[in-house]
Amino acid sequence: MIKASRACALIALGLIASLAATAQTPTAASPRIYVFDNGAIKGLDPALFNFTRDELKEVDFVNASYLVVHPSGTLMFDSGGIPDSAFAGHEGTTVTEGVMSASKPLLPQLASAGYEPADITYFALSHYHSDHTANANSFAGATWIVQKAERDFMFADAPEGIIEPATFGALRSAKTKILDDESFDVFGDGSVVVMSAPGHTPGHQVVAVKLANAGTVVLGGDLYHYPEERTTGRTPTFEFDAEQSRRSRAKIEAFLEETGGTLWIEHDKATLDALPKAPAYID
Ligand SMILES: [Zn+2]
Repeated sequence: MIKASRACALIALGLIASLAATAQTPTAASPRIYVFDNGAIKGLDPALFNFTRDELKEVDFVNASYLVVHPSGTLMFDSGGIPDSAFAGHEGTTVTEGVMSASKPLLPQLASAGYEPADITYFALSHYHSDHTANANSFAGATWIVQKAERDFMFADAPEGIIEPATFGALRSAKTKILDDESFDVFGDGSVVVMSAPGHTPGHQVVAVKLANAGTVVLGGDLYHYPEERTTGRTPTFEFDAEQSRRSRAKIEAFLEETGGTLWIEHDKATLDALPKAPAYID
């Protein structure tokens, strides 16, 4: 009896030890958002966005991506503009590719929060433009949430525009949740919802997250680029469909109004500067 209970106790201890060893991925009691710094986009011509220099408070963009952690899984949203592979041999420096630059690769920031790509349940892009897809292939093990029109464009024979198919090619064979210009309640309790917001691209989308303390946050992707687009109603010159953008903006603004939510414009420097970065989080 004593021997048996000792054995049980040892087995139990062993189990506890192995659980402690494997339980490194943090869990969250309520949704939280980790924010990653993916650098900047500099030297843009404001005319591309139908503005003059004087009309904008800040011309340069920042680049960001986000990890939403929910008690029953994770959603990675966007993946930066400079691939982590570009940092090989340049660790600790700023890597520049054309108008984009970054001083930190993405995956080490994800690791700082306690996660690796294998821990990501869902992956979504706001849209296919190359300033958002740089590390998309790293998340091809997750279930990819994408609007049909966007996926069709991404895997067309010869897609043209701001697109780097090599950065997301692995998504073609990923487990995929295809949406037809519709919302998707990711974890089934209404707290994390991918919302269709087309116009900037055929299947642009945003993510609404209901946080216990910070309230509702909408990760806005490129629904807007400059805060001044929101106040003037102007759209960029290179929208896929500017009229559709206006309808999407009206829909998301109504949602923000109804929920008292906050919009995070992904490229807006003031927004990003004000947010804590991983490993800190917002909940
Ligand atoms: Zn962008």
